[in-house]
Amino acid sequence: MMKRTDFSLNTAKKRGRNRYYIFNEQDYQRFLHLKDISDVLHAAVIHDFRGFSVALQPLVKAGCRQPFGAETLMRFSSGQFGTISPAEFIPILEESGLIIPAGRWIIREALQACKKLRETIPDFQVSINISQIQIEKSDVIQDISAELENAKLPPEALIVELTESALLEDNSNARHFLKELRKAGIRLALDDFGTGYSNFHYLNELRPDIIKIDRSFTAKAIKDAKEYDLLKRFCTMIHRLNIKICIEGVETEDEWEKIRLMDPDYSQGYLWGKPCSFDELLQKGLRF
Ligand code: C2E
Ligand code: CA
Ligand code: CA
Repeated sequence: MMKRTDFSLNTAKKRGRNRYYIFNEQDYQRFLHLKDISDVLHAAVIHDFRGFSVALQPLVKAGCRQPFGAETLMRFSSGQFGTISPAEFIPILEESGLIIPAGRWIIREALQACKKLRETIPDFQVSINISQIQIEKSDVIQDISAELENAKLPPEALIVELTESALLEDNSNARHFLKELRKAGIRLALDDFGTGYSNFHYLNELRPDIIKIDRSFTAKAIKDAKEYDLLKRFCTMIHRLNIKICIEGVETEDEWEKIRLMDPDYSQGYLWGKPCSFDELLQKGLRF
């Protein structure tokens, strides 16, 4: 009873001031489940990131269908829960602050993978996802620079992916981060464009090097003529700002037939390759 009371009180507090919350057993069971996952993630981070791994998904140049790099995506599995989707564990890592050590870990893994891949493809590039929490609560640019130096890689080897929400917050850390990123010569990709606010005004201000069009926007454009027209015009406008476009979530040749008419610079999706391990990428993902 006390535990359920505590849970109710905390839930009400989380929802804001002067709130009440009526206890619901389903919410409580979900809370316990997330707490268990959080404990497992915590133990994994302490034990040298046991259970964490990196998946790489090819990024291709649109004109020649050639992979020029890969996005690194975090994976986690445990004996107790099996494989857990990033959509579930990334928010837990963010809420608990564990994204800071886990983020450092994947920066290192990504750059070490890039270094090895450069033995086969000299200009290979990796992109990494950075959370708002890492920008707010750690010196992530310092971590990135240290790992670039450690791997003896130039800044062009790396693309940093951020979502709009991580940057729109009017905080000095975000401004500092962007300034330092530019100073270091590392490119910025604005991720998940077409979801959230997709604020046009900030595009000019942020001046990302690349805009990644989210799969949901791509899927709508493939199905609906008006959405297609909208995305096509948007691509033209972005190119006028001298920003490159990466269209995500292309799954079939038919989809690509339509998408390539928008003249994107890069593309990413199951058509070019699903996220896979480093060895798999070397074996089958980098055919020229
Ligand atoms: P994201 O950055 O937008 O990553 C792309 C997601 O789309 C990946 O899901 C990828 O598997 C999926 N995808 C790619 N091509 C296709 C396609 O053709 N069709 C479909 N249906 N899906 C496709 P994943 O790996 O589950 O990652 C989900 C999200 O988790 C990522 O979205 C990103 O926001 C977050 N995430 C993953 N790794 C990291 C990380 O290391 N750090 C942070 N901060 N977030 C991460
Ligand atoms: Ca991404
Ligand atoms: Ca994305």
